[in-house]
Amino acid sequence: MRRVSIFGATGSIGRNTVDLIARNPGAYDVVAVTGGRNIALLAEQARALRADIAVTCHDDCLEPLRDALAGSGVAVAAGRAALIEAARRPADWVMSAIVGADGLAPGLAALETGATLALANKESLVTAGPLLMQTARDHGATVLPVDSEHSAVFQALVGEDIAAVERVIITASGGAFRDWPLDRLARATVAQASTHPNWDMGQRITIDSASMFNKALEVIETKEYFGIAPDRIEVLVHPQSLVHALVGFRDGALMAHLGAHDMRHAIGYALNWPERADLPVARLDLAKIGQLEFRAPDPQRYPALELAYRVMELGGLAGAALIAAKDCALDAFIDGRIGFLQMADVVSRVIDRFSGNNGPISAGIDLDTLARADHLASCYAHEAIARSVEEQA
Ligand code: NAD
Ligand code: MG
Repeated sequence: MRRVSIFGATGSIGRNTVDLIARNPGAYDVVAVTGGRNIALLAEQARALRADIAVTCHDDCLEPLRDALAGSGVAVAAGRAALIEAARRPADWVMSAIVGADGLAPGLAALETGATLALANKESLVTAGPLLMQTARDHGATVLPVDSEHSAVFQALVGEDIAAVERVIITASGGAFRDWPLDRLARATVAQASTHPNWDMGQRITIDSASMFNKALEVIETKEYFGIAPDRIEVLVHPQSLVHALVGFRDGALMAHLGAHDMRHAIGYALNWPERADLPVARLDLAKIGQLEFRAPDPQRYPALELAYRVMELGGLAGAALIAAKDCALDAFIDGRIGFLQMADVVSRVIDRFSGNNGPISAGIDLDTLARADHLASCYAHEAIARSVEEQA
């Protein structure tokens, strides 16, 4: 039986992973499941999957978790150190579906055991791509992409020589404002930014989709995971979101990956890799769909995209600064302190300060340095937000 662990089991990716694993009860020996404050769901998952241990990242949730799992035989633990310890438990396959930069440390710990890491947590590649990939190489571990675009690129590259790749194109739905007149964007409200034209996701990722900060992270993810040069990575707006990515080869061929909007495809591909297995995802009826549209992203509408290319050029701690600043700017937009377009301004100012004369951009990357960079970028972001608020007044 394959030993599997699921980090971030209670989230959107985590629940889809649990769904696939629960469909094949005899095939998996579940080691660890982790979550946050949704203790009822975490306990239910741990019982259903007969996990060895359930871990919540919040210390104050330990007692409720212990109560919920009393008599089940599932061990319980809480806190960041416990998450890392759970990631050190031997497993063959580990899903990294924690959201945010906190996904990095458990991911590294799992790689150090030589496990295959199914990586949904794009933030860990953006903040510390070289460290993550080097850790995998040092320990003979494998990282498999779970973001739908990157799973698509990975699948298009099976059997190909990466040296024959001319370009990689990842698609973007264009988000809530893809058809809005540009002059209305500055006044877009939180409610408007939180409505996705194609699917229902959490509020933060839906706003990141409208601003294309999510796509900006995915561009960097493409560079870090596949080692593709930034000038060979393109973004294409594709409102139907059925083509997830395309790989262009030196002979002019373009290999496209299509599939329904269902993260269980990318998760299931990583779970069954290198084989393919039946997956409970809808099959596309292209005759019914009829048309697929594509357009170039407008840099004025999506200023976040340009930031991704700046971050890749800078390297070092620029990715960590991007993640921290983006989260602060997003909080400020959600709280009504800054406007929709000011999110990119705030992040841009933080990157400027990081890369300026005394900026820490090129410091070596380890967990301590990253924690300091995260703190510094958050401080810079709060200053930039305060300035934006003053400028508006
Ligand atoms: P989510 O918010 O639905 O779930 C996040 C999970 O992480 C939950 O289990 C939560 O309890 C846990 N968590 C939150 N903060 C934590 C912390 N500080 N420490 C430990 N655990 C913590 O998020 P999601 O949509 O499932 O996304 C997870 C990751 O996958 C993100 O990096 C996201 O960018 C990526 N991703 C998501 C999708 C999607 O369709 N939802 C698609 C591609 C990639
Ligand atoms: Mg994606």
